[in-house]
Amino acid sequence: MATPTPIQNIYYERKTATARGCYICHRPTQTVLATLRSEDYLYTCPGHLGDSATALASPAPGPTAEDIRKVVAEYGVREARKAEKKAEAEKDKDKDADKDKKSAFSLGGIASGGAEEVKDESKPASPAPPITANIPSSTAPTHNKYALHRSIFEARRADLIRKQQAARAKEVSKGLPQVPRGAF
Ligand SMILES: [Zn+2]
Repeated sequence: MATPTPIQNIYYERKTATARGCYICHRPTQTVLATLRSEDYLYTCPGHLGDSATALASPAPGPTAEDIRKVVAEYGVREARKAEKKAEAEKDKDKDADKDKKSAFSLGGIASGGAEEVKDESKPASPAPPITANIPSSTAPTHNKYALHRSIFEARRADLIRKQQAARAKEVSKGLPQVPRGAF
């Protein structure tokens, strides 16, 4: 239970309203690198990012926003095709059903006078779904993704764990009700 929340070495570039000192050179900057849920963050000049000389961080491996957009688009096309096929299969099924109905009616013959009316001509021809369905527009904010230099990340994580443990200890010392002894 006491395992601290692990953080991943995936930091997103964000902009803040207030400038703070850069982690590397202490010059004020509005660029911040933060983990997805902001468990950890550090200010940095944009110039240090992706700059191998300072080795603060390098672009994280993994799909870029462009890759994701492509995958999503492909998925949309695939789904549309699937839906198209399904619609066609259903059309065939309807045809079969009609055949069955017709033969059934012909068996019943003259007895059921209204049979002809039941065979409705207005059956919708199930149009193919538009290809563009379900493809989200690419207006989602794209945050550049970085991985901190290993030693920096280890230091950040150790620091974070220490802070979490301190916070938890404080929480425990002030919040716990007295557990009656001998409960077990
Ligand atoms: Zn700097």
